[in-house]
Order: sequence, then structure tokens, then C-alpha cells
Amino acid sequence: MSTSVIIPAAGFGERMGAPVSKQFLSLHGKPILVYTLERFQLCAAVDEIIIAAQPATHAQIEFLIAEFHIAKVSKIAEGGRRRQDSVNSALRFVDPASDIVIIHDGVRPFIQQKIILESIEQAKLFSAAVVAVRVKDTVKIGNEEGRFVKTLDRSVLWMAQTPQTFQRQLVLDAYEKATRENIEATDDASLVEVLNVHPAIVQGSFDNIKITTPDDLDVANLIARRFKD
Ligand code: C5P
Repeated sequence: MSTSVIIPAAGFGERMGAPVSKQFLSLHGKPILVYTLERFQLCAAVDEIIIAAQPATHAQIEFLIAEFHIAKVSKIAEGGRRRQDSVNSALRFVDPASDIVIIHDGVRPFIQQKIILESIEQAKLFSAAVVAVRVKDTVKIGNEEGRFVKTLDRSVLWMAQTPQTFQRQLVLDAYEKATRENIEATDDASLVEVLNVHPAIVQGSFDNIKITTPDDLDVANLIARRFKD
């Protein structure tokens, strides 16, 4: 049994408004991407890590991998225009001997070991597993005139995070179908849902934030100070 991890880290960070991509911004002197990579480097169940990144950043990532001893990185793949393209590109380098593939955003540095391990266990049992937290606010559907038309039942709503974890052949099939049929998705699990697979829900954590905007960076600095695994 072996496990591969894909880290999409090829975003351009437009919403951050900073001159460097968000995964390279520092929290207490260490780049966000390094925090993320360390979570999987530390995880005994993980055998290899494949990063998807824009070619212009490959040298910088190689430097960080050496400096912070992230020895499990087997490949830096070329990132694409959309996150989906970046993941697709990295999937080509997954070791064919792996049975589990974990996909985790490069900009989610506060993922706990127990959640990673639980997502692997659930993916082994149910083919796919998605880390998620319950929606705290009421979610409404608005129309183009700026009016609300519907309120959703909060008791069945979740916010999907990553890791999203899959049996290898399933995620390969899902991405192959998405490419063939031009299916767009903002997360990986929606592509396996198209194949009628219902991923298991793994309880996530509100600390497992995705760092997208400058506000998130402020929150991330606070979490980094108290994060324990
Ligand atoms: O901004 P977004 O939510 O899409 O970012 C989630 C993750 O996907 C980030 O780690 C980002 O670097 C990555 N990404 C990517 N390739 C893209 C866009 C985003 O690998 N073209």
C-alpha cells in the first residue's frame, strides 16, 4: 500500500494583490508552501509528493525543498491555467504503484496529521474522502436583481476543504473524463461525483484555512502561533 500526494501550488495569487504568489509569502519567516509540504513530509503514511507549479517558480521551489529537507518530493510538474489543469498535470507523475492519491492545496498550511490519516482510511473504505466543515452561516441563493430567492437547509451543507483523497484509478478516470468532456470543477471531488461516487465526509478543522486574500494572511499569522499537531 503506498500513498502519493499532489500539491497544486501554481496559483498566481491575483486576489492577494502581492507581487509574489501567495504560496511563497512568509508566516513568521517561513513560506506558506513549506508549512504545507512539512505536514506531508512528517506523515509516515505518505511515500511521495508531487508539486504542480508555474515553471518560473520551479527553481525557487527546488531551493526551498533542499533548505527545509522535504525529501519526499519526487517531481515538480508544470502547473496550468486553472487549478484543475495543475492537478491534471501532476497526476501524470503519480507512481503507478500507489493506490491512494491525496490532493491538498499548497496554501492550506494548517492540516493536522490525524485528519490526513483519517482521509486515507476513509478513501480506502469508500474510494474517495473529502475533508469538510459544517456551514456556520445561513446560505441563500441570490438572483441577478440583487434579491434572495431561496434559503438552503443548513443541516446538510458542508464547506469542502482539502485534503481530498482518492483511490488512484478513480481519480485518474475522473480527470480523464473531465478532460474529454470539458467538465469544469473548483474541487477534485466534484469530478468523481460525476462518476456517481459519493465521497466520505471527513470532519475538518476551522484552522485548515485556504490563504487567499490579505485578511487570510492576518488570520494565518495568528493560527501559526498556536498551531499544534
Ligand atoms: O486560488 P485557488 O483556490 O484556486 O487555489 C487553491 C490552490 O490551487 C493553491 O494552492 C494554488 O496555488 C493552486 N492553483 C494551481 N494552479 C492554478 C490555480 C491555483 O495549482 N492555475
